[in-house]
Amino acid sequence: MEGCIFCEVAEKHIPCKFIYENEKTMAFLDINPGAPGHTLVISKKHYDTVFDMPDEEIGEIYKTVSKMVKAINKVMKPDGVNVFQNNKAAAGQIINHVHVHIFPRFHGDGIDFKWRRVVLDSEDLDNIAARISKGVE
Ligand code: AMP
Ligand code: ZN
Repeated sequence: MEGCIFCEVAEKHIPCKFIYENEKTMAFLDINPGAPGHTLVISKKHYDTVFDMPDEEIGEIYKTVSKMVKAINKVMKPDGVNVFQNNKAAAGQIINHVHVHIFPRFHGDGIDFKWRRVVLDSEDLDNIAARISKGVE
């Protein structure tokens, strides 16, 4: 897609700290890493968010995530790893080309992904689960 930085990376028009690629996906280091080994996995084809992607394409991304997370665990030897993916600005998405973050964690790294708990009772949870369940295609 014109003007998309990760399309440019996928097409090798701009350099990256390359790790791995296959037909559908590519993995490279985040240019502003939060930890050594902070890696991004992208779809080579442009999608803004997961909402635009067929299940099979998301599956291809996560197959590569699986390979990367194991390699990072073996080589970087973190104490833990977060895998996450931001969709839309409200969720912190800055680059509007689907990508998954693999973020090595180390004891005492001071990073806190915790959230404040919202108060929902068991009935609320039943209702939400039922509504989402009906939305599954
Ligand atoms: P997000 O908030 O999920 O959209 O995160 C986008 C991530 O892409 C950020 O962590 C950036 O540091 C990273 N990033 C931006 N441009 C590049 C680039 N050219 N190569 C590698 N990582 C990049
Ligand atoms: Zn793109």
